[in-house]
Amino acid sequence: MKRADIVVIGGGIVGSAIAYFLARSGRAGKIAVVEPDPSYAFAATPAANGGIRQLFSLPENIEMARFGLDFFADFHREMAVDGQPADIGFRRRGYLFLSDDGDHATMEANHRLQAAMGARVDLLDRAALKARLPSLNVEDVALAVHSPDDAWINPHAALMGFRDKARALGVAYVQDRVVDWRKDGGLARDVALASGSALAAETFVLAAGAWSAEIGRMIGLELPVEPMCRESHFFVTRSEIEPLPFLKAETHLAFGPEGQGYAGGLPDWDQPPGFHLEPQPTRFEELVWPKLAHRVPALDSLKLQRSWVGHYARNSFDLNVILGPWQGGAENVFMACGYSGHGIMHAPASGRAIAELILEGGYRSLDLGAFGYGRIAQGRPYRERGIV
Ligand SMILES: Cc1cc2nc3c(=O)[nH]c(=O)nc-3n(C[C@H](O)[C@H](O)[C@H](O)COP(=O)(O)OP(=O)(O)OC[C@H]3O[C@@H](n4cnc5c(N)ncnc54)[C@H](O)[C@@H]3O)c2cc1C
Repeated sequence: MKRADIVVIGGGIVGSAIAYFLARSGRAGKIAVVEPDPSYAFAATPAANGGIRQLFSLPENIEMARFGLDFFADFHREMAVDGQPADIGFRRRGYLFLSDDGDHATMEANHRLQAAMGARVDLLDRAALKARLPSLNVEDVALAVHSPDDAWINPHAALMGFRDKARALGVAYVQDRVVDWRKDGGLARDVALASGSALAAETFVLAAGAWSAEIGRMIGLELPVEPMCRESHFFVTRSEIEPLPFLKAETHLAFGPEGQGYAGGLPDWDQPPGFHLEPQPTRFEELVWPKLAHRVPALDSLKLQRSWVGHYARNSFDLNVILGPWQGGAENVFMACGYSGHGIMHAPASGRAIAELILEGGYRSLDLGAFGYGRIAQGRPYRERGIV
């Protein structure tokens, strides 16, 4: 049996950010990340939009996103390896939330909190929105919030940046799959791997995205995390449209500029939870395109170039991350899963948080105790009320 001090299960952006923050402390000992697929073909990270925004209703989510913004803005320098910058295509082009389904009171309340916490957020009525973004059809929009400092990145490049830097700092990536997780005397002891070997450790971190519940179950850790399919599309248009922020509406449309075109879609609420590995052939034409053309009439003319699927690790309990130790269970098990669509922007804050918990014994920079496993065990949801 091989040994490490800390084993991270799952090497997506979250597991890799955790490994990086642990390694950069220089005090974490031997760190191993178990990741079966270095191509990340089915992981959520490369399928994501990579948006980072402060438009939340919970102070912790706002603070985590703000740390993410600062961290990713400087990522190319901070994560350089051997003088090679880690370019992640950071673009500070803003976010726009639209209230087009009657919940503008929530949007106003969230805006008050975001502004009070120092975010640059503009509350726009219909006329102000039209003046700022003339391409939008605003007839059914009651209110909007624009956050010009928010940004987006290339999530696959960010994952590679964390991974490369973690390796440069001595982290071992073990290309294997956890198939069993064993405990003894109340503590987790080792994971069995698909290759037939095993890996023992003092501390374990579960960061396996949409696979976290099935891996947790191996050791008796029940998590309300399920894979939820999200289909995305990349399309181009020859129509003239002013530079758009990343747009998200209460009626679920979510898209933003990407390279020479646009990427986004509609959440697949109509699909049951589970892995759905192929895009549905008529979905874009029948459901997504009409909504795009309604919101931006110039998108009545576009060319679809690619569709793909990815999976949220959806926390069906309250749609927020489950972060920290397994309260009431093996105390050497930590988790970071259930991000439900926020895992890119919250990965840096999660990496820092888990490193503090393991190395310092508690939160030091930002208290994220409200996102602990205890709320699940006690049936006390801590719900996000913004557009998820
Ligand atoms: C369409 C879409 C758009 C999104 N847009 C955004 C956005 O704009 N902003 C944002 O912040 N977030 C967004 N997200 C969410 C974001 O992608 C995720 O929250 C984030 O990528 C989660 O990272 P992760 O490392 O937890 O999971 P993943 O990237 O899924 O990584 C989990 C890893 O665990 C590994 N694994 C699985 N089984 C095992 C096993 N048995 N043993 C060991 N390892 C295993 C997998 O191979 C995988 O690599 C979006 C997601 C989707 C699908």
